[in-house]
Amino acid sequence: MASDASPKPAKRALLDLTFAALERELVVGGLRPAHAKTLWRALHRDLAADLADQSEFLPPLRRWVMEQVGSDRTFTLRFPEVIGEILSSDQLTRKLLLRLSDGQTVETVVMGFTGRETACVSTQAGCVMGCVFCATGQMGFVRHLAPGEIVAQVRQAQIAAKTSGKSGLRNLVLMGMGEPLHNYDAVMTALEIVCHPRGLGLAPGHITISTVGVVPGILRLAAEQRPYHLAVSLHGATDEERTALVPIGRRWPLVELMAACRTYTRQTGRRIFFEWTLIAGTNDSPEHAGRLAVLLGGIESQVNLIPLNPTDGYVGSATRKGTAQAFQHVLRAAGIPSTLRQRRGIDVAAGCGQLRADRANADAKSPGAPLAFQD
Ligand code: SAH
Ligand code: SF4
Repeated sequence: MASDASPKPAKRALLDLTFAALERELVVGGLRPAHAKTLWRALHRDLAADLADQSEFLPPLRRWVMEQVGSDRTFTLRFPEVIGEILSSDQLTRKLLLRLSDGQTVETVVMGFTGRETACVSTQAGCVMGCVFCATGQMGFVRHLAPGEIVAQVRQAQIAAKTSGKSGLRNLVLMGMGEPLHNYDAVMTALEIVCHPRGLGLAPGHITISTVGVVPGILRLAAEQRPYHLAVSLHGATDEERTALVPIGRRWPLVELMAACRTYTRQTGRRIFFEWTLIAGTNDSPEHAGRLAVLLGGIESQVNLIPLNPTDGYVGSATRKGTAQAFQHVLRAAGIPSTLRQRRGIDVAAGCGQLRADRANADAKSPGAPLAFQD
């Protein structure tokens, strides 16, 4: 028998549980598994903020919720608080700053047109990878997010996307703060939860995981046949140029990274998106584009060009539109499709970690000031 001195079992977040895990918990609590469907629906489809007053819950489920869910119970149900919000000048992009239960803050972005909304969520508070131009990298690593903290962002984005009669989220990108493949298990659990058809029901084919190039994670995604899209952030096509921007490139040099990408495309049959932040005078010349084209030779790929969003910790500016188009021209001539991030929404969407950084600095300059190409 446990003595009074024995530690209490740690409380668990209800949003961390997959459908199968929730079902198991209810069965352990003496309920029929069918109650899991009702509870799951309330949590992940109806996006209920409070489970205490759910008329469709049958008495055994009501009792379970009363006995098991609460700040002093086995399971907690807490949602991050929205402590900052900015809307792009065209009203199509909304950036939220969310405070987690321990006070950490992360960013979530909702962007796009009605019915085609995309959520961009964070997977860590801070990041260990240290990319020099990235506001999240500049703040260093704080901690991993739990699955439920990633799910809660998607939930919050869904609420934002459904306001004013909109139909809701269609796409999800893991391009917010943090490196998803450095928090692999929590990210995979979160994606399983948000894809469950009885809940948020996102399609795996509409989800993109963006990585700085964590080779073991890329190989694991391929070996596990995860059904999501992959984006790899390159920014340089030689190790020397890349590691100046992406220091972690020393750990996984391009030869290893590209071998992993080839394995990924072979094993999954899916092309890879390659991200390239365009920095004026640093990695945006036709010669840089030519080296990128050679590097990507023989890989099913698409390049996403992102003009730099300047941050306090890095001296550099965005490539001009004409230079970006010349870069694209070289890629096109080599048969590599590319997109240039639209002007739309860029004022709030670009540059993960900046809203948090702006808050932290209590910066005088407006975080919502439009940032776009100089024509
Ligand atoms: N850690 C992952 C995902 C988050 S960053 C990764 O690095 O891929 C998502 C994308 O935004 C990356 O391609 C990253 O290089 C880019 N990015 C970060 N800071 C930026 C900035 N200030 N301007 C433009 N792109 C930026
Ligand atoms: Fe981390 Fe991605 Fe930012 Fe690099 S760009 S520091 S990997 S969040």
